[in-house]
Amino acid sequence: MAEYDVVIIGAGSVGVPTALATAKDGLKTLVIDFLPSVAQADNKHAIGGIRATHSHKGKIWLCQRSIEIFSSWEEKYGDDIWWSQGGYTFLAYTKEHENLLKDTVNLQKSYGLNIDFVDPEKIMELIPGINNNSLLGGTYSPEDGNASPLLSLHSFFRQSRDYGADYQFNEEVIDIVTKNNYNIVSVKTDKATYKTRFVINAAGAHAKEVGNMVDLYISVEPESHEAGITEPVKNFFTPMIVDIRPCSDSRCGDSKNYYFYQNKEGKIIFCLTPSPNIVGTDRRETSSFLPQISKRMIQLLPRLRNIKVRRTWRGLYPMSPDCNPIVGKVREIEGYINAVGMCGQGFMLGPGLGELLSRLLREKTNSKDKEILETLSYDRDFGIEEELK
Ligand SMILES: Cc1cc2nc3c(=O)[nH]c(=O)nc-3n(C[C@H](O)[C@H](O)[C@H](O)COP(=O)(O)OP(=O)(O)OC[C@H]3O[C@@H](n4cnc5c(N)ncnc54)[C@H](O)[C@@H]3O)c2cc1C
Repeated sequence: MAEYDVVIIGAGSVGVPTALATAKDGLKTLVIDFLPSVAQADNKHAIGGIRATHSHKGKIWLCQRSIEIFSSWEEKYGDDIWWSQGGYTFLAYTKEHENLLKDTVNLQKSYGLNIDFVDPEKIMELIPGINNNSLLGGTYSPEDGNASPLLSLHSFFRQSRDYGADYQFNEEVIDIVTKNNYNIVSVKTDKATYKTRFVINAAGAHAKEVGNMVDLYISVEPESHEAGITEPVKNFFTPMIVDIRPCSDSRCGDSKNYYFYQNKEGKIIFCLTPSPNIVGTDRRETSSFLPQISKRMIQLLPRLRNIKVRRTWRGLYPMSPDCNPIVGKVREIEGYINAVGMCGQGFMLGPGLGELLSRLLREKTNSKDKEILETLSYDRDFGIEEELK
């Protein structure tokens, strides 16, 4: 029977950068996925936004490290992953949102984030042509950015294999075997059994099923979100634009926030949070999404009105109750580690999180890691929701 230090379930946004970190740090690593190749579940549905702009300190710190990894990737490993450091801006069109964003900026600064609340003039400079009717300003965090999820994951994958990680595709994990209902012994798939000391649950929308294999209740529910991409046009703005206003009228239907940016090829990539949330695993596109978001985007940035949409798609956010990931060891099972509940942020969290998990396995966590793990623990109080989810 093949033997590994760590078996990672899931070759997605979290599993692949984690394998990169563990293999690089000398752990014998196996990644198993039931899909035929890397990044074929929800990684490829992500639009590529990467921000450290959260209100949760653990996520700020993890994503700050992720940004260091994404931004230095090409220089270090030679692969262009379409990293672009265009920043993020959350817009304020109401006094309530201005106050919320200003309060959050103070908190974010206290955790070391480079961010400011800027006036409408600065927003108009960043986003030429933006509708400034009632615009009160917004946040601007210049170090955030975007990259291609597929290019990134494929490059992380190749690099992790160079460091010695093994991958098994088209293979489904069906059980995790324990001794005395406590110690991890092996991982069973529909094709083989692999001996291991550690198992990382990085199964995204299927995290709950994997938790069930060790009788652990994982409170992660998938939710459907839709996105789209336009034809390319000359680049005219750099930040990811986040409009946090909810909408509920006959003009644009019911929806919460939406966000979009212009990628390296000049294409606008956009995504909307539906209202109410669509719980479940339905990945079929709807005909309501495009009319909803396009009306909102054109109202915000009228110069988008003649641009053609090329394609839309729908994927899943693996949602936790408080919109923060569930990460780390659990008291109930020795050797089992959660890396689940990434919500709408698994791509941006992956690289920073992978390194932390590798330190956790090697008992090399530092004081910041310990603080992060405490805030993301399986046992935490799930009552406080992330403000900038
Ligand atoms: C429309 C949309 C836009 C988004 N935009 C962004 C964005 O801009 N930035 C961002 O950071 N995030 C974004 N996200 C969220 C992001 O896609 C997810 O948070 C992320 O992909 C989750 O990562 P994961 O590794 O947990 O899951 P996945 O990437 O889905 O990987 C999980 C893997 O586990 C495998 N698996 C599950 N169970 C088993 C099993 N029993 N045996 C074997 N394999 C198994 C699956 O096949 C899958 O490949 C977006 C999501 C959507 C839908």
